[in-house]
Amino acid sequence: MPGLNLKKGDHVEVLSGKDRGKRGRVVRVWPKDDKIMVEGVNFVKRHEKVRAATGRAGTQGGIITKEMPVHISNVGLVCDDCDKPRRIGFEIDDEGKHRVCRTCGKRI
Ligand SMILES: [Zn+2]
Repeated sequence: MPGLNLKKGDHVEVLSGKDRGKRGRVVRVWPKDDKIMVEGVNFVKRHEKVRAATGRAGTQGGIITKEMPVHISNVGLVCDDCDKPRRIGFEIDDEGKHRVCRTCGKRI
C-alpha cells in the first residue's frame, strides 16, 4: 500500500507472512524504504557473538530475539471503529490532509 503514510503510533495488522493477523503499534518508520517496525512483530532469532575483548570465563554467546522492520505492503492500518485493517482514503480540508477509513469514513 504505497502512500499509506504510516506514522509512529499507528495501529496496524500484519496481512501476510508468519506474523499474519498480529497487531501492534508502529514504533519506527523508514519512509524512504517503505519500512516500519511494529511492536511485537517480526521477531527473528539471532546468534549473539561473544567478543574476544570482553569474553571471560563463563561468558557465553546466546540466541537473542530481535524485532526486524517489515515492508509496509505487508501491513494494513487498523480502523478502530471497524476493528479491522481497512483501505484508507484521504480527505482534504483547511487543516490539511486526513486519512479516513473507506468503509466507515472515520478519520484515522
Ligand atoms: Zn472504519
